[in-house]
Amino acid sequence: MRLSTWRAPLALGGTALVASTLSVAGLAAPAAARPVLDRQCVTTDTHVGGSARGGFGERDHRAVSAQEQRTIRRQTARALRLKGVSPKVAAGATATVPVYVHVMRDANGTGDVTDKQITQQIAVLNKTFAGGESSTAADTGFSFSLAGTFRYNNNQWHQDKSSTTYRKATRKGGADALNIWLVDFKYLGIATFPWDYQKSPGIDGIRVHYASLPGGDIANYDQGETATHEAGHWFGLYHTFQGGCTDTNDEVADTPAQAGPTSGCPEGQDTCPAPGSDPIHNYMDYSYDSCYTEFSAGQSARAGQMWTAYRG
Ligand SMILES: [Zn+2]
Repeated sequence: MRLSTWRAPLALGGTALVASTLSVAGLAAPAAARPVLDRQCVTTDTHVGGSARGGFGERDHRAVSAQEQRTIRRQTARALRLKGVSPKVAAGATATVPVYVHVMRDANGTGDVTDKQITQQIAVLNKTFAGGESSTAADTGFSFSLAGTFRYNNNQWHQDKSSTTYRKATRKGGADALNIWLVDFKYLGIATFPWDYQKSPGIDGIRVHYASLPGGDIANYDQGETATHEAGHWFGLYHTFQGGCTDTNDEVADTPAQAGPTSGCPEGQDTCPAPGSDPIHNYMDYSYDSCYTEFSAGQSARAGQMWTAYRG
């Protein structure tokens, strides 16, 4: 499995950044190269095996289907309560999502992304969810507005230790608020799904490597599209390789099945017998940021349905 290709944690890279940041101009040593990092993403789906884990592709698809059924029942019940609003209408849900950014610095200030980077990150979210990177991309109808930036100095939190505790202590807003915690860990990002909000509201949101923001220094993953990918999960989207070469795969009809995650940007890659090349440009694959250009119309509809069911 791809697990064997995962890279070492980046803690040492952070140390180098401290030295560079805190040195007087002209005396700073050259920054050490950050170790190569593959796109690594963990979702905490409590319905398919509990806590965060890296075993993507090993999800019990029957359990996923059970969650899909729960979502449909919930959508139907909500639609009935709204009198006359059918679940299909719910697909058109749109919203401006308030975003709370939590900058988890260590005691030396490592991880202190600038306000400009945060502004750029919000702009990336707005562009990608509006279909702004490709003529074939879907406009999901969702936009994002920075509602607050909070900065903390805590070595444990910076390294994503005690994540349940720090998230509960710092999370802002309700079910419709996207909380982004910027940390330094071996992943690019970790997300929670919308159907888990009701049970665990205090930890809802996404954890994103601080160096993946625009202007960050993770090679190939430094354009802020890790946050787009993780936000996709937060809206209820699975990886495009979810389920592998199965009919249902990621529960979205217009993303062709693919056997596993993509690395880089291998144009024309086709790993399943089912029609269609792998959706390597889709934000929910594992491709490079520069390769990412779109959500599909089916994903956009699913995000709207999930919003109505769980966040709207
Ligand atoms: Zn992911």
